[in-house]
Amino acid sequence: MCKMRAGPQPLNARCARPDWMSPTIIAGNWKMNMTVAEARDLVTAMIPGLEAVAEVVSVVFPPFVALEAVGGLLRGTDVGLGAQNLHYEDKGAFTGEVSASMLAGLCEFVIVGHSERRHVFGESDEAVGRKVEAAQRAGLRPILCVGERLEERESGSAEVVVERQLRWGLANVGSPDGLVVAYEPVWAIGTGRAATPDDAQLMMAHIRATLASVYDAAAAPDVPLLYGGSVTADKVAEFMSQDDVNGALVGGASLVAEGFVELVRNAAAVA
Ligand code: PEP
Repeated sequence: MCKMRAGPQPLNARCARPDWMSPTIIAGNWKMNMTVAEARDLVTAMIPGLEAVAEVVSVVFPPFVALEAVGGLLRGTDVGLGAQNLHYEDKGAFTGEVSASMLAGLCEFVIVGHSERRHVFGESDEAVGRKVEAAQRAGLRPILCVGERLEERESGSAEVVVERQLRWGLANVGSPDGLVVAYEPVWAIGTGRAATPDDAQLMMAHIRATLASVYDAAAAPDVPLLYGGSVTADKVAEFMSQDDVNGALVGGASLVAEGFVELVRNAAAVA
């Protein structure tokens, strides 16, 4: 899964590891939580449990300021590291922003277009597409997040919205190599109200079909699709048992070491 990179830069060397070829990814998005010291403690507490699970690629996404410290603790382990956002320009007068090339030396993955970026910070579909391209160009694996708001689901336009976000997100990307897509219905994020596994599967099948129409149909099955939105250790296996769900993007439940390790273990049991 990680070998593929048609962009100008090869993927981070860590991604070429054979044991990272598994499409099963459990990603823990720590959001704006954890000081550097807390991040060190959290990842230190997680590492032994995550390392014991070979069937799943676990990846943690600390805040930017903790990337280097957490990366140091992860060195030599099987646990991946990612950033929560990036800017699409490579460098310049963009105060407060961080570029893909800055991240490329620190981590392997980057979350792009998370609903909080789209809806709290007004990130457009077009900007998300530029970010996916920048990530791929720098050799990072982008996790492109898509998902509808409650009113869009209730009005029956969820598939149209998700497909629009997906097509914009991939507009500048000629190959799905290294790509990961996360379907995260906005109304399910941080609310304790997850989608049903059946509804998640319906949307994943639509995402898979859209990928097949954008790229070579043969490549679509290789893109890991993650469900996100109030996933807990108790619920993860139900999602992972769906045909097109390869893993999960987890927020709240990734902030406690034992809980996240249990979630990863439960995911591995059905991987
Ligand atoms: C997320 O932040 O992407 C997320 C899915 O959060 P939570 O698991 O807390 O709903």
